[in-house]
Amino acid sequence: MNVEAKQETLGFQAEIRQLLDLMIHSLYSNREIFLRELISNASDAADKLRFEGLKNDSLFEDDPDLKIRVEYNKEQKTISVIDNGIGMSRAEVIDNLGTIAKSGTRQFFDALTGDAGKDSQLIGQFGVGFYSSFIVAKKVEVVTRRAGASRNEGVRWISTGENDYTIETVERPKRGTKVTLFLRDEAEEFLDGFRLRSIIRKYSDHISLPIVMPAEGEDAKGEETANSASALWSLSKKDIKEQEYHEFYKHVGHDFEDPLAYVHNKVEGKLEYTSLLFIPGRAPFDLWDREARHGIKLYVRRVFIMDDAEQLMPSYLRFVRGVVDSNDLPLNISREILQRNKTIDSIRSGCVKKILELLKTIATSDKEKYARFWKEFGRVLKEGVIEEHDKKDDLARLFRFSSTQDDSGAQSVSLEEYVGRMKEGQKAIYFVTAENYATAKNSPHLEIFRARNIEVLLLTDPIDEWVTTHLHEFDSKPLQSVTKGELDLSGVAETEAAEQVKHNEADIGGLVKQMQEILKDQVKDVRVTQRLTTSPACLVVDEHGMGRHLEQILKASGQKITGSKPILEINPGHPIIQRLHAETDEARVKDWSHILYDQALLSEGGQLADPAEFVRKLNRMFIELTGTGS
Ligand code: ADP
Ligand code: MG
Repeated sequence: MNVEAKQETLGFQAEIRQLLDLMIHSLYSNREIFLRELISNASDAADKLRFEGLKNDSLFEDDPDLKIRVEYNKEQKTISVIDNGIGMSRAEVIDNLGTIAKSGTRQFFDALTGDAGKDSQLIGQFGVGFYSSFIVAKKVEVVTRRAGASRNEGVRWISTGENDYTIETVERPKRGTKVTLFLRDEAEEFLDGFRLRSIIRKYSDHISLPIVMPAEGEDAKGEETANSASALWSLSKKDIKEQEYHEFYKHVGHDFEDPLAYVHNKVEGKLEYTSLLFIPGRAPFDLWDREARHGIKLYVRRVFIMDDAEQLMPSYLRFVRGVVDSNDLPLNISREILQRNKTIDSIRSGCVKKILELLKTIATSDKEKYARFWKEFGRVLKEGVIEEHDKKDDLARLFRFSSTQDDSGAQSVSLEEYVGRMKEGQKAIYFVTAENYATAKNSPHLEIFRARNIEVLLLTDPIDEWVTTHLHEFDSKPLQSVTKGELDLSGVAETEAAEQVKHNEADIGGLVKQMQEILKDQVKDVRVTQRLTTSPACLVVDEHGMGRHLEQILKASGQKITGSKPILEINPGHPIIQRLHAETDEARVKDWSHILYDQALLSEGGQLADPAEFVRKLNRMFIELTGTGS
């Protein structure tokens, strides 16, 4: 017996305890799903064996027929799920069953509130998997051996799901994994062949391996297959029920909730393949993790080839889950070959087309559903205009933004709607980018647009800065930032409100010159505004200059940016500016000019170079106004 063979007791990663509590609490009413999760893992294990077996068929040993077996024992009150898949080594058992190897786990647990009701909503987002066994079991035993390892390299793992587990090396002639649940008293209802079969049919019918159970009844012998064991996607659409699609999704998507939508498509002709693609109901918590798994399983003529076939979906559709089954690819295809394979390229563009069509259909037929999609995945989809130039227009049609037209703040306005509402003579689609909705909505740059009833899109996702640099126009209308360049609204009919705020350059020419000198280190120019109606000042950049918000994002990401100086625009109609124009005390003009500049910066969410100095100046001014100072 080597050192490793001895029995060891190891502690669970801290989060597992938390996960188990949360799960037992929130899934109790739906606890039969433990079987679905165990069968799903057994099926994944068979897939992994097939994949590794392509290169090394000795892994199949003398047991090539992959299947899953479900047994129960009324006396011992146990249920077992047995597979002859890939199995696990000792190190893999520790990694897979003792820690949560998922990226973003920390953030997930940080997001928990302690409020059972709210937290149980989150669990679906995390995916429950193996640990769901503990909803019905007071003890779980896993005995496993990795395919290709020798018979004395089996591993036994036992835990009561409290703080730790024991692990030891054991003799195990058979490859694969046996998971045995020792049921809690209140879960004994599952010790029933009929019940188990119906759970299998309900949740795992689509599993393409046979799931067998010992035959029962009068003259029963041998085993019976409890599921239909056909690849769901290979069936004809009309023979598949909604519920079956949903259960299949939960398996391929490792999700606990129903998908938002799916599209099942068979392509025949020169290229033959079937795709069954799902859009999840909720963003996984690792959506922003570039290393996170991609969602497409690749099959060749029903044979599983690989998980996470990232060549089949572009990054901006990385939330899509499902399977692609090709008739044309060779069985021994590797990841390297996938990268430069014409067939894969065509399948990929076919799949992308299907997903974009599906989204378009939802967007037009079910606005509420589309809003849910957009809330979860909109920011990812927007990456598409950067990633896939020739899809820019199709993608832009799917985008939704907040706008000055809708006070709810929801991202619900499409570019088509915007264009449909454009004023006669309006030359551009106007937008403002900012850190958040409040900053965008209250931006002084919007004043003239409000006065003239011109809609402005309020863009508040960091990605929007890139979207607007890649999407120059929509429907032949240029996208124009309201904080850039000279504003030309000359084509649009005047409104009475706007007429009143027409500013005349000459009125305050002297002040403009003075301020140009005072602020020459901060700004490129000071000029009279055509944008402001109620604020005294705002900052703008040149037509092609970098917006302050983008500059801030880039700086935050560690890039050294020397953005160009902004231009300060001042509003001659504003009492402060008029007062300043009449001011004779130079020191005061200086202070006020700096305050105006700092204010303008603050109002667009910027950061002051010297906040304390700003406060000092402001206080000096207050004291003078109240006349109490020295
Ligand atoms: P997921 O299936 O989403 O990865 P689970 O909690 O269901 O998460 O399973 C955790 C991991 O444990 C799996 O990824 C796999 O590596 C391993 N595992 C679980 N069951 C088996 C099994 N029957 N055979 C081989 N490995 C398994
Ligand atoms: Mg699983």
